[in-house]
Amino acid sequence: MSTFLELGLKEPIIKALTDLGYEKPTVIQEKAIPQIISSTDDLKAFAQTGTGKTAAFSLPIIELLEASNNNVQAIILSPTRELAVQIGNNIKDFCKYIKDIRVTTVYGGSSIEDQIRSLKKGSQIVVGTPGRTVDLINRRALKLGNVQWLVLDEADEMLNMGFKDELDKVLEATPETKQTLLFSATFPREVESIARNYMTKPIEITSGQKNQGSDNVSHEYYSVTERTRYPALKRIADLNPNIYAIIFCRTRRETQEVADNLIKDGYSADSLHGDLSQAQRDSVMGKFRKKTIQILVATDVAARGLDVSELTHVINHKLPDQIENYTHRSGRTGRAGNKGISIVLVNGKEKGKLRPIEKIIQKKFIEAKVPSGKEICQNQLMNLIDKVQAIEVNETQINEFLPSIYEKLKDLEREELIQKFVSLEFNTMLAYYENAKDLNDLSSRDNSRARSTNENMTRFFINIGRKDSLNPAKLIGLINDQNIGDKIEIGAIDILDTFSFFELDKNFEDKALDAFSSNQPDFDGRSVNIEVTKKERSGGKRRGGSKKPFGKKDGGFGRRRSAEGSSSKRRSDSSSIRRTDRPDRSERNSGGERKSSSGFGRRRREN
Ligand code: AMP
Repeated sequence: MSTFLELGLKEPIIKALTDLGYEKPTVIQEKAIPQIISSTDDLKAFAQTGTGKTAAFSLPIIELLEASNNNVQAIILSPTRELAVQIGNNIKDFCKYIKDIRVTTVYGGSSIEDQIRSLKKGSQIVVGTPGRTVDLINRRALKLGNVQWLVLDEADEMLNMGFKDELDKVLEATPETKQTLLFSATFPREVESIARNYMTKPIEITSGQKNQGSDNVSHEYYSVTERTRYPALKRIADLNPNIYAIIFCRTRRETQEVADNLIKDGYSADSLHGDLSQAQRDSVMGKFRKKTIQILVATDVAARGLDVSELTHVINHKLPDQIENYTHRSGRTGRAGNKGISIVLVNGKEKGKLRPIEKIIQKKFIEAKVPSGKEICQNQLMNLIDKVQAIEVNETQINEFLPSIYEKLKDLEREELIQKFVSLEFNTMLAYYENAKDLNDLSSRDNSRARSTNENMTRFFINIGRKDSLNPAKLIGLINDQNIGDKIEIGAIDILDTFSFFELDKNFEDKALDAFSSNQPDFDGRSVNIEVTKKERSGGKRRGGSKKPFGKKDGGFGRRRSAEGSSSKRRSDSSSIRRTDRPDRSERNSGGERKSSSGFGRRRREN
């Protein structure tokens, strides 16, 4: 393995790298740095997040650019604000000992005037998100006529986010003579077509096998149903008391719901998605980096800019729409030599997506069983005992209290004392899990029941029930009012207290969802929403009537818990259908304010 000096970098850069603790180049740096320094050929690099690609493209640019020339010489495009800011900061760190190199980072959601002022002072390197970059080009505040290097970082993600037009525009604004450096973790058709249309005979380098996941990551899947998905998630978190994880969701709504539920249930969690303002995102990411929050629930887009190297787990609450994105997600763990686990929660239908992913990552998923209450309690107990063993005793502070404590406990034997301390910490958790069901069993029963009902019908959940004075006749009337189609067959109807189920001819599944979504009906003043559910027949109180074995407050884990499966809000107050929920496109929606239902400012785990 070479050193940074051998790769052709000058002393002040190496000094800055030493300050940052970069001792040796990573694989991608070893390949890209000498290539970019010695040749003006375009470059196509296959690189996962976390492989050191920021330094791989920026160090040779810093090495070569003319500090005495104030023109923009390098433009670096990145899909998200967070990533752009991170790249900009990294470059500033790398230039610490080089005078006169100025870097400006431009992105939406922040004052464009400030960015224009900074550009006017003369920046040799500009890092930007596609939208804001084009905006500045249009205002003639950003002139790219002298650009020597164009870097497209995470090109696949930029295209995923719909930035094709912006990329075209930036590419057109740069001279033919420039060197284009394209970095991507995956190379779907759209990225290949950018490479074909805008690059000249690019040199290809890779930091490993194309699209392959890190060797430090193991991949596990848990079989769940919609009923057991959230309880299973909680059990996974409970099994790992020191969890430091990102839970990935497909949409902003799903993200907010999962985060709200976790916060409500007392977990140290928060959400990160495109409905948050820049300041809110910064705040959440800051807390997560400092580990004030253990679990971050995020959309793919929002989590892109987050550089955290010690994640223990990545959890796919739902798999991404594009399976290539799985490598992005799982690549967030197992970084910097650490081991990591990438977990996928899949229902019967979603299981089919695992095989194609296995082909991409060239690894097999291991089937994991949702842990039992006993396993969780055992893990938590052992974790507590480890902590007791490791705790440092501050004698000077506690000495004055000890004599009276010894006196009070003098009649207890050692074993009794241990039992009492452990019970104090664990009674609530033990009671909570005492009669906990086997979720694996529940999932398989759900699935087999789903198969056993009428295959020609789709079963829908609707968020109104007996308490809303709903009865079968009124429900049929409501369905008919939506003009879904002529003479649709309506099957079984189950009216429960606060919600209900009904079956419709499965050929009308999409039409029914669309009709309820666009009509946004209300029922006695209550917004109505429906969603497709499992075809489980109701036998009375199933979902709504869950007990709360934990009562108000537990002493055990400093968490508040609600009963398993009682996942808070049942989408009760807004008229929408799950399917209409769009994947997050936060970058396009810069500066949006967070919805009032946010989990901010709520109670945190006290530790
Ligand atoms: P990146 O892929 O550029 O997002 O980098 C991932 C992480 O690895 C960042 O935290 C970098 O600071 C760190 N890193 C990059 N290159 C090196 C290196 N040669 N030695 C140590 N850490 C590095």
